[in-house]
Amino acid sequence: MTDFRNLVGGRLLPAADGRTLDSVNPATGEVWARIPRSGAADAEAAVRAAREAFPRWSSLPALGRAHFLRKVAELFAEHAEELARLETTDNGRILRDTLKRDLPGMTYLWQLAAGQVLEAVTGDTVLLGPDALGLTRREPYGVALCVIPWNSPISTFSAKAAFALAAGNTVIVKPAEQAGASVLRLGELLAEVFPPGVLNIVGGLGEEVGEALVRHRGVNKISLTGSTETGLRVTRNAGLKPLTFELGGKSPNIVFQDADLDKAVEGVTVDSVYTGNAGQVCVAGTRILIHRPIWSEMIERITARVADIVLGDPLDMATTMGPIVSQGQYDRVVSYLELAEKEGAELVFGGAHGAEVVPSLPGGYWVAPTLYTTADNGLRVCQEEIFGPVAVAIPFDTEEEAVRIANDSPYGLAAGVWTRDLGRAHRLVRDLESGTVWVNTYRQMPPGLPFGGVKDSGYGHDAVIEYTREKAAIIQI
Ligand code: NAD
Repeated sequence: MTDFRNLVGGRLLPAADGRTLDSVNPATGEVWARIPRSGAADAEAAVRAAREAFPRWSSLPALGRAHFLRKVAELFAEHAEELARLETTDNGRILRDTLKRDLPGMTYLWQLAAGQVLEAVTGDTVLLGPDALGLTRREPYGVALCVIPWNSPISTFSAKAAFALAAGNTVIVKPAEQAGASVLRLGELLAEVFPPGVLNIVGGLGEEVGEALVRHRGVNKISLTGSTETGLRVTRNAGLKPLTFELGGKSPNIVFQDADLDKAVEGVTVDSVYTGNAGQVCVAGTRILIHRPIWSEMIERITARVADIVLGDPLDMATTMGPIVSQGQYDRVVSYLELAEKEGAELVFGGAHGAEVVPSLPGGYWVAPTLYTTADNGLRVCQEEIFGPVAVAIPFDTEEEAVRIANDSPYGLAAGVWTRDLGRAHRLVRDLESGTVWVNTYRQMPPGLPFGGVKDSGYGHDAVIEYTREKAAIIQI
């Protein structure tokens, strides 16, 4: 059993009242670690530490801050294997993803943030006339609160903290209660890198320490990655603090008759909704829209491809799909499988009964890859985010119909388009209501490109500029 502690003011501490939360390994169902169940006193201490550290951190020359960020990049390279294994144990995200995809990307991301520190201090000069000069300057907000989910903690931590720190803010991170261990372990390592109070990490429940931090008047900026429901709650509690929201999705992945079908089959199955994180990915393409002339062929080929998925121990590099993160999330996914059957969606593979017969480890939370078909995009299983390895295939006849079905969603996070027609690709990039559109690829999120949503999927994105505010000066000469 491993005990993780908060990082507050440079010190590694348990919750003030000593309470803890169990962290369950989702592959086995066993408790493997404990994290602090922080409360209002811990929120208060973290805000005080971050406020005290702000004047010195924000007045460092920008390149001085870059020096610290580059040290974090090096630390990620040195501890990649340990951090990847820890995160996989904690949330079930397969080691192939945490070790080979996420961790190498983190080194690059922190280097990128180090290279962008000057963006945070760059302003404009406007000549207002012969005797007047307008200036703009960018300033950090102060204390930035970063609230992150369980499905990809190290990546989400980095995407927020690196840019918030680069911009000169001090930071408080609130990891998710279901899987906070990897970020708290990072806190132990980063305590050696940053001056006390520059980076603080407090574990605990969203409705306890999360809400105390969101309401706190000493917090000046909030960035949340989480569900749309949590986004609404934070909106109500945050007062007038500026917000960045990366929320849920129900992304369409659209295959046209003229596409390279070999690539499209990979793109709508393993690259999108089933492997990686067993569909627990905000951008999962859970609505597969298929051009009617290739409908039967695509369903057959998807079924054959999914049969090759290796479901099992996420720490085994041969595994291509892991478990569901928690009992609560497992119950939610299974309830949607039952709902799909009640709503009359037709099962192709997996399903509520498949969930019980998945060959896997004993214990743990296992759901089989599942596909339904329907012609009715209005079903709840087509409209609501399930966050599991569950997709619905929907036929369409024309490009206009594909766009209409794709946009008929409260969400607008991501979309995939598979076509060889360049004009059509550009029309869909223009017409799809979505923060990202992938054409002939899926789930690529290179740091450096904006990543965020529209509609109920949120607004804003994590970038240096987003963690600064702009001030104007008019100087009469
Ligand atoms: P969640 O909304 O339940 O929790 C996210 C974080 O918010 C956790 O740290 C939680 O403790 C905290 N939280 C919950 N209630 C809070 C409150 N009242 N005040 C302050 N903080 C609170 O989400 P989850 O179940 O951890 O993650 C899954 C969701 O995240 C899905 O909807 C998924 O689509 C979304 N997500 C989005 C992206 C993206 O970039 N758009 C990426 C990953 C996950």
